[in-house]
Amino acid sequence: MRPPELNPLFASAQSLEGVGPRVLGFLKKALRLPGQIAEPRVVDLVMHTPTGVIDRRAMPALAEAVPGTIATVKVIVRKHKIPPAGSKAPHSVLAEDETAKLEIVFFHADRRYVEKMLPPGEERYVSGRIEKYGERLQMMHPDHVVPVAELNKLPLLEPVYPLTAGLSGKVLHKLIGRALDLFPALPEWLGDDVRAKLAALPLAESFHRLHYPQAPEDIATGAPPWQRLAYDELLAGQLALALVRQSQKNQPGRSIAGDGRIRAKVVAALPFQMTGSQVRALADIEGDLAAPHRMMRLLQGDVGSGKTVVALMAAAIAIEAGGQAAIMAPTEVLARQHAETIGPLATKAGIRVGLLTGREKGRARKQVLAALADGTIDLLIGTHALFQEEVVYKDLAFAVIDEQHRFGVQQRLALQAKGGPYGANVLFMTATPIPRTLLLTHYGDLEVSKLTEKPAGRKPVTTLAVSNDRIEEVFEALGRALKQSAQIYWVCPLVETSDKSELAAAEERAAHLRQYFGDTVGLVHGQMSGPDKDAVMAAFSAGDLGLLVATTVIEVGVNVPNASIMVIEHAERFGLAQLHQLRGRVGRGTRQSSCILLYQGPIGETAKARIEMMRETEDGFRIAEEDLRLRGGGEVLGTRQSGVPEFRMAEVPNFSDLLELARADAALTLQRDPRLTSERGQALRQLLYLYDCDEAVRLFRSG
Ligand code: ADP
Ligand code: MG
Repeated sequence: MRPPELNPLFASAQSLEGVGPRVLGFLKKALRLPGQIAEPRVVDLVMHTPTGVIDRRAMPALAEAVPGTIATVKVIVRKHKIPPAGSKAPHSVLAEDETAKLEIVFFHADRRYVEKMLPPGEERYVSGRIEKYGERLQMMHPDHVVPVAELNKLPLLEPVYPLTAGLSGKVLHKLIGRALDLFPALPEWLGDDVRAKLAALPLAESFHRLHYPQAPEDIATGAPPWQRLAYDELLAGQLALALVRQSQKNQPGRSIAGDGRIRAKVVAALPFQMTGSQVRALADIEGDLAAPHRMMRLLQGDVGSGKTVVALMAAAIAIEAGGQAAIMAPTEVLARQHAETIGPLATKAGIRVGLLTGREKGRARKQVLAALADGTIDLLIGTHALFQEEVVYKDLAFAVIDEQHRFGVQQRLALQAKGGPYGANVLFMTATPIPRTLLLTHYGDLEVSKLTEKPAGRKPVTTLAVSNDRIEEVFEALGRALKQSAQIYWVCPLVETSDKSELAAAEERAAHLRQYFGDTVGLVHGQMSGPDKDAVMAAFSAGDLGLLVATTVIEVGVNVPNASIMVIEHAERFGLAQLHQLRGRVGRGTRQSSCILLYQGPIGETAKARIEMMRETEDGFRIAEEDLRLRGGGEVLGTRQSGVPEFRMAEVPNFSDLLELARADAALTLQRDPRLTSERGQALRQLLYLYDCDEAVRLFRSG
């Protein structure tokens, strides 16, 4: 059980003054919640990290204020110029100090509110951006106004948070402050050596510094407060893994053996023969399931190597044995695609399939949950929704985690824990092979199966690197291909500068391509609503669209066999694994396929090496090794990839060093204190709870 002193942190955010159902809804959008958590809690506010800081420390006399900058000025309010009712003119307040006058301007403001905030004849501190119009100093909608005695309430260094519509930074900050007030005194779990190395502040103080910085540097990801918090999170993850590994060794699992009757029906329904590697992988899995210990296996297979069928056949074993199975994918698109490809096969084999993602709501969701609990669903396919608290399985025997690197350790554990006292048997799948050392750090001792053969009928993909100067030639070639009813993906760049969003870039490109090719051009991007996304994907899949412009949402999983050309714009900005994944979308049908890597020169050495590698080979295993060599561990594991962040605090400089340190720390700690019963061990249990590693702590009860 979670120690009671942590309870206030894990209460719903609604327990905070000022958070009702409406604000809770906004928070749900604004906070990056761990996948299994459906409703924001107090702790999620504490961990909502700022992205920057507004410096209001400049407190000049008005005459000295630098136009265009943020300043905090002390003024005497003189008079209000209130616009006549119905007029669009602003409410303006004239104020001054000894050196100059300032006009404070409000549009669409409630008159009484402004009058109360800035009463004539009184002194106020006003903070905001100062502008100069002709000779007049102006401040539009000051960010803060306080009486002189309350200067301490004005945040001179104000953290900036990723926001959401409906929730202002001020309100968010206030709520975070209230959340911090509930932060309990916890014992220190860092050892002295690590503490010294990181120049670590105590935990509560570290969080406090992020939200109430004393200097702008306090919120830097490389500075002590953040580094400590990052280390804590990594340590929690490493401890959780080590505990799982430890308990795995000690713990019996249940032995699951099917009679083959459902598998036979799936095989009969397949429109192809399984490859040798698929058959072998399946035999490995069958062996794992039959053995009396809990299965943890990784299935590595290049994009398009046919992992889905293996997953389905493995699920069939569990279902034959009377249990349930689940397949979890990192994105909505991918989960739906699994449901679509698996659906017809499953139906023919008598497997009852359910779908559960963030999009299933209300009655539909209730029905799925009920059917899952009473065992009417044999196989549940979905996203992070699969391991949320209210999701109860009748008997989850086997779980598949597709594109596993997109999930965090806790999330994987949470799904596993849905499998009753023994925990579900788990098959991890990945299209980006992970080098051995990284496997060890992130998964412990996993068994590995590989799909090395490509399904029959795959043609090699011709890969070209083309400089942006020659983009017109590419358009011409695409035009010819479209005339022959080829289908084309056009992937838009990851955006490096913040002046243009990924979405804007994709929209612009789609508009541009429409000028050439007209209505056959479609667009899909991450900010589209689920149904809209599906509709576009379906149109492309059905051949109604010839060219699909996409942001990286198509990165994982989608399967449109007729698509034979992949254009990747600004290929120099993508990682090798991503390029390889994207290329894997083509070469699946009967056409000769090609992949065009458009690059904007001059490009750096690493980018050049990546593009060279892509031209040289289609072997995902080779590409993964090279990727590791070029990028280093943290990135290969996908922590920098789009989609679900693996960590809340740990995406920081020094990631690999901190991870190494945490891994060694966890190993040594458990060696000395395997059940975490010492004083430090008890403190570490609290750390595990803090980072939602409840499952790991629960192992002590059964282990
Ligand atoms: P991935 O490993 O990338 O998840 P999929 O499972 O999506 O690959 O399979 C890609 C495509 O290959 C699908 O259309 C699937 O039906 C097909 N496929 C899978 N196995 C075989 C096989 N043995 N022979 C022919 N086609 C296959
Ligand atoms: Mg797949």
